[in-house]
Amino acid sequence: MAGENRMPPKKNPRIAELAALIKRHQELYYNGQPELSDAEFDALWDELGELDPDHPVLGAVGADAADGWPKARHLIPMGSQAKASNPEDFLAWAAKTPHPEYLVQYKLDGASLELQYEDGRLLRAVTRGDGEIGDDITPNASRMRGVVLRLPSAFSGGVRGEVVMGRAVHAAKYADKANCRNAANGLMKRKDGIGAEDLDVICYDAAGDLPGGGDLFSEGRRPAFRDELGKLEWLRSMGFETVPLERCATPEEVVEHRARVMDKRPSLPFDIDGLVVKGNEIDPADLARARPEKQIAFKFSLEEAVTSLVAVEWSESGSTYTPIGVVEPVRLAGTTVQRATLCNTNILRGLDLRIGSRVVITKRGEIIPKIESLVENPPGASEIPVPASCSCGAALVDEGTRLHCPNPECPKKALHRLEKWLSVLDVRDFGSVILGKLHASGRVREIADLYGLDAAELAEFDRMGETLARKILRNLAARSEVRLSEFIAGFDIDGIGELIAEKAVAAGYDSLDKLAAASVEELDEVEGFAEITARALLQGLAALRPEMERLLATGAVRIAAPVAGGPLQGKSFCFTGELKSMKRPEAEALVKSLGGTAKSSVTKGLSYLVTNDPASGSDKNRKAVSYGVSIVDEEAFLRLAGRA
Ligand SMILES: [Zn+2]
Repeated sequence: MAGENRMPPKKNPRIAELAALIKRHQELYYNGQPELSDAEFDALWDELGELDPDHPVLGAVGADAADGWPKARHLIPMGSQAKASNPEDFLAWAAKTPHPEYLVQYKLDGASLELQYEDGRLLRAVTRGDGEIGDDITPNASRMRGVVLRLPSAFSGGVRGEVVMGRAVHAAKYADKANCRNAANGLMKRKDGIGAEDLDVICYDAAGDLPGGGDLFSEGRRPAFRDELGKLEWLRSMGFETVPLERCATPEEVVEHRARVMDKRPSLPFDIDGLVVKGNEIDPADLARARPEKQIAFKFSLEEAVTSLVAVEWSESGSTYTPIGVVEPVRLAGTTVQRATLCNTNILRGLDLRIGSRVVITKRGEIIPKIESLVENPPGASEIPVPASCSCGAALVDEGTRLHCPNPECPKKALHRLEKWLSVLDVRDFGSVILGKLHASGRVREIADLYGLDAAELAEFDRMGETLARKILRNLAARSEVRLSEFIAGFDIDGIGELIAEKAVAAGYDSLDKLAAASVEELDEVEGFAEITARALLQGLAALRPEMERLLATGAVRIAAPVAGGPLQGKSFCFTGELKSMKRPEAEALVKSLGGTAKSSVTKGLSYLVTNDPASGSDKNRKAVSYGVSIVDEEAFLRLAGRA
C-alpha cells in the first residue's frame, strides 16, 4: 500500500559509487584500518542519504530485520531544509531572511521520528521514510529514552524528535558500528526490538494540525504555541528532552556561536552535524512549503576546523617578514594541516590572536589554509612576539600590512633582487637554491654578475652538469631585450611592480632618463600612482641607478623601445595545456609582439590564464582561481589578440 508512494530510485551513477565507497570504508573501519576521518565518512553517508535516502547501504545494520514494519502517514510533513555550509552562505541567507532574533539549536545527527498522540496517549511512532509515509515502529519507540507514553495533558497531534545514540553508549556497546547514527538507524528498526533502550529521542517540534483537514482536535485542546520558544517550553513541560538552544541577536553572533560549537563538538554527548537556525515567530505558511525558507541548516564543513595556534613563525622574503601560524595538526578538506597564513601584523592584532588561541582555520578554494577567526583566548594564552630587528641589525618597520627591513644595503634584499629579476624575466630553470649558493659565495652580488657566469663555472656550483648549466644560461641570454617596466620591476623597488611601472611608461615616462628627471608631484599625477608610490619609485631609481647602469654596460641586456599602443600592452598571459591553433612558443611570441607579457607560471597580478580545459584541477587553474586571475580559453585569447 505505502510502497506505491515511494519514488523510484534515480539512476544517478554517483549512487553506486557512493555505496561502494561506504562499504569499502566501513570494512576498513571494522578491520581497524580507517582511512577516512569520521567527518569524511559522514560526508559520503550524507551525500548518499540525499541522493537515495532508502539505499540499502544506509540501513546496512540488520537491514533484513527491519523489513515488515507497518506503514503510517506523518502528521507534520517532513520537507527538506535549506542549507548553508559556510558563513558566507549563511550570512547571505540571513540578509534575505532577516529575523529580529535567531534561535540556534544543534542539528542532531540521528534519525527523525514523529511521535503521534491522541488525547495525551502515544498512538504511534513513525520514522522518516519518504517524508510523508514512514515505518510505524511504536513497539521500539516506546522503549527509547525520552519517549513519553502518557502526556500530562490531553494533547492530540505530532511531536517531532531525533533518535540518537549517545557517544558513550556507542563506545561502550556498539563500537563495531561505524558511527552513532549508523548504530541508531539499525537499532531503531530491528524487529526484535533489541537495543531500543540504548537510544534517546530528543525533541524540537510539535504541531496539532492534520494534513487533509483531519479533525483530531477540538478547539479547546489545541496547544497554542505563541512562538518557537513557547513550543520548546511546552515540550519540556510535557516531559520531553529538548535540543539545547542559543539565542543570538545578529547573524554575526550566530557565526561566532557556530565556531564555539565546532570547538566543543568533539566533547558533546551526541553527534551533531551543524546547527538549525530559525526565528522565534512561527509561520505556518512557510512550514507548509516543501522547503521552508525561514529556517536553515547551518552545517559544519570539511573545509573548516577549529584548532589551537601553537606558534607564529616569520617567513622572510627579501626584506619582508610574513607571519605564518603553526597550529595543532588538524584534518581539513582531506589533509592534515599544521600551518596557515596570517598575512600581516594587522591580521594578528585585528583578530586579537595569541599563542594558545583557539582559531577557526579554513581551506576553501585556496591552496594554503588560512586562519579565519578567533574562537576564544583561553587563560594563559600569551602575546605573539613580533620580531624587532632584521638579521642585518636594522630595526624592522611595522606598517601593519607589511613588516620589513628598511636597510637598502640589507644582504637579504640583494638576494631577493636577484630572484625578482629572474622571476620578472621569467628565466626558466634558474632555481633559488643555485642562486642562493652563487650569492652566498660572493660570486654573484648584483644582477650584472649573473651575465658574467659561464657554463663550466655554474655547473660546479650545484654539481648540475654542464648540459643543464648551458640551458640555464641560454634561458638567461634569451631575455636580452626587456621592456622598461620589466627592467624596473626586476630591480625589486619596494611597492613597484610591473603593472605600476607600466602605468608610468604609458604616461610618457618611457626611458630611465625621463623617469629619473620626473618629480614626485609629476609622477603622483599618473593614474594609479600616489605620492608614496611616486616617492618610492624615484628614491629606488636614484639608489639603484649605478647598479642598473652596470647591468646595461654588460651589453647582455637592453631596454626595448616601447611597443607603441600594442593591443596587449600591460597585459600578461600564462598558457597551460595544449592549444589548437598554434604551439605555445608561437602564442607567447604573439603576446610579446602585441606589447603583452608571457609568463610561465601563475602569479598574483597575472592578467589571464589561457587554457582549453578551465575545469581541470591543475595547479595553474587552482592558483588562478585563488588569485582571482581571469581564466580564458583559446578562442577568447585569439579575440584579445585580434586574431579571431
Ligand atoms: Zn635587513
